[in-house]
Amino acid sequence: MPGTVYFVGAGPGDPELLTLKGRDLIAQAGAILYAGSLVNEAATRFAPAHCEVADSKGMTLEEMAAWLIERAARHAVVVRLQTGDPSLYGALIELVQPLDAAGVPLRVVPGVTSAMASAAAAVESFTLPELTQTVILTRVEGRTPMPEGEALEDLARHHCTLCIYLSITLLHKVEAALRAAGWREDAPMLVVHKASWPGEELLIRGTLADIKARCRAAGVVSQSMIIASPTLGARQWPQLTRSKLYDPSFTHKFRRATAPANPSSSELPDDASSPHRD
Ligand code: SAH
Repeated sequence: MPGTVYFVGAGPGDPELLTLKGRDLIAQAGAILYAGSLVNEAATRFAPAHCEVADSKGMTLEEMAAWLIERAARHAVVVRLQTGDPSLYGALIELVQPLDAAGVPLRVVPGVTSAMASAAAAVESFTLPELTQTVILTRVEGRTPMPEGEALEDLARHHCTLCIYLSITLLHKVEAALRAAGWREDAPMLVVHKASWPGEELLIRGTLADIKARCRAAGVVSQSMIIASPTLGARQWPQLTRSKLYDPSFTHKFRRATAPANPSSSELPDDASSPHRD
């Protein structure tokens, strides 16, 4: 009976942001292949003493696949540990295909992606009623070309929340794209370096006009999330449009209105019988 290869999202950096499922699998693993120094800590902290732990940093995809297939022949639980969530920028499918071809069973365990850890670090909400209800996870073009229609300039025209991965050394491209899409010079921006890493997290707040200079001054050139959103800084705003779900005048499945209808919040959500936000 071959073992199973579990692709586990290690989360953004803080080992305590691993899921319980991920931690339990690491604790049962006979072998762990982790992606670079980012997830080293979680791999070594929770792995059993006899577990074989290897860094994939210097391996090709073929070598990684061969390593996992070989270990799955000897161990019931083999873990491939990846940063954040395995479904984002993680070469997941490239590794899954050779495992499928070799008949090795596999499962994926999600992880906290760095965009969410960045929102948490900064106490920001990526959605706010009537401002934006949409989040785009993307990157700018580096060595990986962007498919047609996905240039940041095109995506930014939605004026929704943009979480931009893998682009901190390309901030000039981010700025140019936002300008071309009509974002104002004073549009708030946020860069989070090493979100959730104990003692190493850095928040840089600025505007489209000055975020690059602020990042340069702070020496931030790697492992950073760039966020542009009309919701940034809402914690300080005196006036917010409230979510209808918690509005005293709004009745839904779980609560009766305790106040008369408020004209600014009388519109019903798409499905008035159930909460539209959790
Ligand atoms: N699968 C990962 C993303 C891997 S791509 C995830 O879900 O988060 C690597 C990029 O993720 C980095 O260039 C950076 O933009 C972002 N990133 C990863 N960890 C981060 C962290 N702790 N803080 C900020 N950004 C991070």
